[in-house]
Amino acid sequence: MLGLFKRIFGTAQSRLLKKYWKIVHEVNAWEQRFLDLSDDDLLEKTTSFKKRFQEGESLDSLLPEAYALVKIACRKLYGTEVHVSGYCQKWDMIPYDVQIVGAIAMHHGSIAEMQTGEGKTLTAAMPLYLNALSQKPVHLVTVNDYLAKRDCEWIGSIFKKLGLTVSALIGQTPPHERKQTYAADIVYGTSSEFGFDYLRDNSMAHHQSEQCQRGYFFAIIDEVDSILIDEARTPLIISGPSAVSKQMYDELKDQVSHIVRLQRDLCNKLATEARKTLDQLGFLVEDTDAPTQRKKLSKEETAELTEAYKKLWLVGKGTPQNKILKKLKEYPDIRSDIDAWETYFHGEPNKEERLDALAKLYIIVDERNHEYEITDLGINSWISYSHEAALNDFTMLDLGHEYALIDENQTLTEQDKLQRKVSIREEDAKRKERAHNLRQLFRAHLLMEKDIDYIVQDRQIIIIDENTGRPQPGRRFSDGLHQAIEAKEGVPIQQETQTYATITLQNYFRMYEKLAGMTGTAMTEANEFKQIYKIEVLAIPTHNKCIRQDFHDEIYMTEREKYQAILKEIHIMHALGRPILIGTDSVDTSEKLARILKQNKLVHTVLNAKNHAQEAEIIAHAGKKAAITVATNMAGRGTDIKLDKDVAVLGGLHVMGTTRHTSRRTDRQLRGRCARQGDPGSSKFYVSFEDSLMRLFASPKLTMFLQKFRPPEGEPISAPILNHSIETAQKRIEQRNYAARKHTLEYDDVMNKQRQEIYAFRNEILLSHDIKPICENILESLCDKMTDTFLISRSELWDIQGCADWVISHFPISITSKDLDDDYLTLDDIKTKITTQILDAFNKKLHHEAMVIAAVQQSAGKEVNPVGILQEVLKNLLVTHIDKFWQEHLLTIDHLRTDVNLRVVGQKDPLLEFKHEAFVLFDTFTTHLKTEVAHALFKFAMIPPQAKQMKDSIERLRPPHGPKLLAPTTFDHKEDL
Ligand code: ADP
Ligand code: MG
Repeated sequence: MLGLFKRIFGTAQSRLLKKYWKIVHEVNAWEQRFLDLSDDDLLEKTTSFKKRFQEGESLDSLLPEAYALVKIACRKLYGTEVHVSGYCQKWDMIPYDVQIVGAIAMHHGSIAEMQTGEGKTLTAAMPLYLNALSQKPVHLVTVNDYLAKRDCEWIGSIFKKLGLTVSALIGQTPPHERKQTYAADIVYGTSSEFGFDYLRDNSMAHHQSEQCQRGYFFAIIDEVDSILIDEARTPLIISGPSAVSKQMYDELKDQVSHIVRLQRDLCNKLATEARKTLDQLGFLVEDTDAPTQRKKLSKEETAELTEAYKKLWLVGKGTPQNKILKKLKEYPDIRSDIDAWETYFHGEPNKEERLDALAKLYIIVDERNHEYEITDLGINSWISYSHEAALNDFTMLDLGHEYALIDENQTLTEQDKLQRKVSIREEDAKRKERAHNLRQLFRAHLLMEKDIDYIVQDRQIIIIDENTGRPQPGRRFSDGLHQAIEAKEGVPIQQETQTYATITLQNYFRMYEKLAGMTGTAMTEANEFKQIYKIEVLAIPTHNKCIRQDFHDEIYMTEREKYQAILKEIHIMHALGRPILIGTDSVDTSEKLARILKQNKLVHTVLNAKNHAQEAEIIAHAGKKAAITVATNMAGRGTDIKLDKDVAVLGGLHVMGTTRHTSRRTDRQLRGRCARQGDPGSSKFYVSFEDSLMRLFASPKLTMFLQKFRPPEGEPISAPILNHSIETAQKRIEQRNYAARKHTLEYDDVMNKQRQEIYAFRNEILLSHDIKPICENILESLCDKMTDTFLISRSELWDIQGCADWVISHFPISITSKDLDDDYLTLDDIKTKITTQILDAFNKKLHHEAMVIAAVQQSAGKEVNPVGILQEVLKNLLVTHIDKFWQEHLLTIDHLRTDVNLRVVGQKDPLLEFKHEAFVLFDTFTTHLKTEVAHALFKFAMIPPQAKQMKDSIERLRPPHGPKLLAPTTFDHKEDL
């Protein structure tokens, strides 16, 4: 039915494409008219486009001419030499019509899905040029520095021909050059450079001149899925050493490894016993011809077998990665028996038995949900191993209850009660921290695996990105997990850090007025792009028809068989002379495969997380005759694999996937690496039931199915039900990851509002020409707020004394309760009375400091400009305070996050709790900030330069790692923070 509708009306996608094709014809018509333009004419055109935009013409209406002009620039470049990444290249590109379609889609803020090799780099040139005509900031976001530089040089040739400036922002761009870099019409750079610059501009720069970015108008994100989806799980964080360290990893690590060892030994013992039984019963004979024929067991033997299976089941709960267990599961019968026991224990009637069995373990590991639970046995062993100190490690205080007890205690004075509450609260915080450290240590031991989740390099723990297999130096697992892994691996535990500034990539990119993207693989995540970023995905047709041959998956029972099959296929393809690209999902697999290839004397190149520096170079050669390249799936993305001339007739590049990845998108990326632009090529995936995807996510029905249809050793299974079930498993994981990203974002959204407010205020200060009104405003609003709390209403709360006390203890003015205690005064009158005095005092204070400055300037024979200096001093004072207290606030929020997650137990929605409390905390933070600023405004004092003292106080006021404080040359202000 739906199909019929589509045939009559077309889909939204096809309607849009139709519309865009019309514009393509306009572009080509303009191109005809522009054919005779000279080089100078091109420059002039750009100037006139800019002018037309300034005069009110829209970019949409300029589009056909602008895109045509880009085409003309390409024509002029045709055949000339351009320098790209150290090589000379002959320019041979003039945008195809399909590229113009993609370029139109991007201008309209969509994601253009264009297959690998379709020329996205060139396509982006058109919308970049068009949008830069507005003279507002236009950014192109690349996956890595190498591509930022390459694309900037390559496509930059066009912009230069058209009279626009272009620059590359890379990690090595020094801070003092960045302003210049951003000044260019078009900037190419990575998402983290853009994001970190935003954070630095807004949390570190102390002067407008130190801010490098100039706004966020239009961004195109290349390989948009890898940036907004894969990388979006960890936020960008600027951090520095924390002032106070509370971490206890060192103290706890031995105890944790002790318990983990107990568990491992126990499970090994159980597994060994089980294996022995199975062996004795004749289950371990390699008899592939008659896999289902078992001898008849006696009653005792059946009992022994049951015992053995129960043990194996338990091993699976305690150490899912146990080697013996894994080996045993290679026997399909045993595997299906184990699964049958899993089902058995899952059943409600067997709950008691399950709990009894599990009680024998120290820890129960749930690999699939990435969780674990410590049993009573575990807790008791913990306590007996680590003595009394550990008694409280697994019980938390009930603060409300404790407070009530204190309040009920008649023997205590009010002062004592307060004291006790404070110490109980400290005890509670300490226990929570300890419990948190403990949890992370266990997580590090049980759920984080070396060479899969991280590598150890130069005595440091480096994260491996789970999607790309690339190491991510500089990034750290959050929430103390990184420290816990450091403790586990016995490398130095880095000091606890404190967040100075943080933002998720999602929220960074949402600041752009218009966001567009391009990639070969976006359709499977179209929904997420739409929901979170409000961008549509449009699939752009290819220039030449894609003739890639995608073979059906080959599915094997065991990994062993799978690798044998892969090797066999490599031999066949290699003999034909076809280049082969083998994609893996981890460094580990890459290395394993490399060993196999080496044993078989097959010359190959490995491209993995450990040597990604030359990846572009290597991957570019993957299309040579008979080349074998092994790469983790993302390696070298963005680099074109060109086929040698004689390779096409042999069938082109053959891509082999060593497993199905956790997302369908990654599979598509890998397939897309061959058969570019109408080249021949083929792809095939290999899957085994031991792959983690199948092990953790395939349905139990499958195993049952397999038991019936176990093919002979070495033969693949192929049945439609399998393909379907792989896809279901992938969809399940995609869903879960989407939820995780959304979760990160939901928390960051709360912070985003607060961050925007604070950054906006900070910027207002930095950009202001007159800081005095801002200061006055702070003083006034503080008075306003505080007066409100003392004087609620005459009938309920009217604490004149309290109010007056507050005023005199915070400001150097003498006001008494008598001055305010008058029935005829309204609340507003009282406020005015107080603020007038305060502002008056403040103005006197400023005047006084200005006089000091003027006097010293005069005596030094300099031009007198006290106001200018005072402005800078005040700006600095405000910004320093904002940064200090904002950082403290971020720390509090960090703690709140951990805290609310502990409350899940109490049936509360942690996110709601978080939102609510973060709001309250922000309010407290602003009041606190204003109070401290108010103090400082009356406390600072200009002091004549006495070299040493001046230097000291500058040092003291400088934020950690911050840029230089802009101190006036002859003066500094002194203030006791
Ligand atoms: P993608 O990013 O879409 O995978 P690239 O931008 O890396 O693709 O381009 C792939 C190759 O196609 C490059 O070698 C480029 O020179 C070539 N190419 C792109 N557009 C054109 C064109 N219009 N005419 C000729 N060659 C082109
Ligand atoms: Mg590309």
